[in-house]
Amino acid sequence: MSAPAGTPPVSPRADVALMEGYHSPQLDVAVRLNTNESPVAPPAAFVAALQAEVAKVEWHRYPDRRAWQLRTRIGELHGVGPEQVFAANGSNEVLQTVCLTYGGAGRTAAVFEPTYALHGHISRLTGTTVVTGDRTDDFALDAAEVDRVSADARPDITFLCSPNNPTGLVEEPDLVRHVVATAPGLVVVDEAYGQFAPWSALELLGDDVPLVVTRTFSKTWSMAAARLGYLVGPAWLVAELEKVVLPYHLDALKQAAGRLALDYRPEMEARVASLVEERGRLVAALTDLDVDVWPSGANFVLFRPRQRAGNDVWQALVDSSVLIRNCASWPGLEGCLRVTLGTPAEDDRFLEALQEALS
Ligand code: PMP
Repeated sequence: MSAPAGTPPVSPRADVALMEGYHSPQLDVAVRLNTNESPVAPPAAFVAALQAEVAKVEWHRYPDRRAWQLRTRIGELHGVGPEQVFAANGSNEVLQTVCLTYGGAGRTAAVFEPTYALHGHISRLTGTTVVTGDRTDDFALDAAEVDRVSADARPDITFLCSPNNPTGLVEEPDLVRHVVATAPGLVVVDEAYGQFAPWSALELLGDDVPLVVTRTFSKTWSMAAARLGYLVGPAWLVAELEKVVLPYHLDALKQAAGRLALDYRPEMEARVASLVEERGRLVAALTDLDVDVWPSGANFVLFRPRQRAGNDVWQALVDSSVLIRNCASWPGLEGCLRVTLGTPAEDDRFLEALQEALS
């Protein structure tokens, strides 16, 4: 007997059928400040160098499977060898490979909400059970709560995010040190916004420490279109990840793009410095408005209108052709909105539209 009309003839995994998927609405607006991208493109000299590289690619051959040159260059950036670097298509794929390798059926990952939704989502997609701990009312990680989750669930993976998305909070070094020293399994510190923050968990890495730090080219390197991310960790752990990731997962052009981007580190650092300055200006301007603002160590700022519902303010901004991230219905973030730092002109458009929406 065939399935009733309109019913697909095959079913996905039962847990996948119940999932929502991950969505970030993309609307056609003048000012897009919703996905924490860099507001400016990488240097023109980088694009020219990459164009020249296209002519050198042996298109009929598979790329370097281990992406050794790219990993060597990334390793140099952090003072480690290529065997301590694992690169993939965006740091999301890095996180997925970690979950496939250290999570999976019968294993558990711990997340502390509110945090980056993909930590829980990717864990579930890889069959990993997710246990959730809470943050304090001001979104700080709490040592006692981390200890409770560690003792109750014995997680195989503990996810931290510093600066935390979407709150912007930079985790305290002593607290991260405590988690790394006491967590029963692997600790992943997601530093997608690491260069905007005053300290990095990279300094806690060691060959006998079950810790990895993930980074991305999508934000500070102005290369969201390229989809490239990596982690730094112990060589024995990277070797396990290499068994799991698909063969030739990083194409030749992307490997070249990553290598060449690293030639423009001073330009990247200048972009980061100007965004940090712009963050100060934006936070100061928000503080003068009728909103609660949280301190940020990233390229975005979380705030909550005091008198008007977050949803309504978000819609009013869209009506003014300014798109920010609507977190108003996310658990623990009731009424909150997140704005990515743009160019000063874009941020002025946002501030004007927000002032109007609040009045
Ligand atoms: N981690 C965090 C905390 C993020 O905010 C993002 C992007 N929004 C990512 C990882 C994934 O970045 P990508 O896959 O572009 O490297």
